[in-house]
Amino acid sequence: MHTFLSTDRYIYAMDKNNEPALMVKAGTQVVIDTFDCFQNQIQTEDTTFQTVDWNQINPATGPIYIEEAMPGDILKVHIDSIELGDKGVMTVGPDLGVMGHRMNQFTAKIIPILDGKAIFNEKLSLPLNPMIGVIGVAPAGEGVNNGTPGAHGGNMDTTLITTGATLYFPVFHEGALFALGDCHAAMGDGEIGVSGIEIPAKVSVTLDVVKGHSLRYPLLENEDGVASLVSKESLDDAANQAVEEMIDLLQPETDLSLEEFTMLMSAVGQSQISQIVDPLKTARFFVPKYVLEAYHIDLFK
Ligand code: CA
Ligand code: ZN
Repeated sequence: MHTFLSTDRYIYAMDKNNEPALMVKAGTQVVIDTFDCFQNQIQTEDTTFQTVDWNQINPATGPIYIEEAMPGDILKVHIDSIELGDKGVMTVGPDLGVMGHRMNQFTAKIIPILDGKAIFNEKLSLPLNPMIGVIGVAPAGEGVNNGTPGAHGGNMDTTLITTGATLYFPVFHEGALFALGDCHAAMGDGEIGVSGIEIPAKVSVTLDVVKGHSLRYPLLENEDGVASLVSKESLDDAANQAVEEMIDLLQPETDLSLEEFTMLMSAVGQSQISQIVDPLKTARFFVPKYVLEAYHIDLFK
């Protein structure tokens, strides 16, 4: 059984005060239409900075109220599929991203999607990595605009948030108030220019609730392993906290001392960058699946 949610209902901030767009029971698959991060305002390359309404940025479709979700639970989100629109857009400009100080003008580029490739120009067709930039739940305190990531998820711009991945979010409020948007046809780790190939999409997710376990930050699991996703003002802090979150999650499931488990993580764990251009930076710490298999670790079972 699945339910459909159109772009008629969207939010610019994850906030406990948002009215639910949809109420579902745990276990429901929801098909969610999303705008691109510019709310589909940029359709041609002659678009200027002035013609874009910058208040209409990073809409996320939702929020979805999951009936069983209570504060202290975990919301489990499996990404079943991401169906992309037929063209994406990228922008750069002054003060945007790592190269913003060297940009003199706002520039938009339309990138057609054809035969499973992003057509960058006549020489280069790029492989797709359909992914979700903004995904999360209502945060603990005040609302957080969808441009900013945090413990609630939000604008994590993480390449691993793609089909087949399962995300786990801390639940801070009844119903969790889940929303997503800002899909990319492709993006590199770092998202250095401040945009991926921004594109409208149709995303299918299955929403579940885990009782009896809690999380402080989002966690991602895929067929290769598990990653903690932490956003902080500095990339250093984000990377360090991601390591500690992972060690706190896994070490108690093993018979290894903290000393020995730290050696194991130093041998096989990967500190990786998600994005370095949003108001908070996002880093992740990735542990390969064979470590979990060796200790028969089934997350949150
Ligand atoms: Ca984004
Ligand atoms: Zn984006």
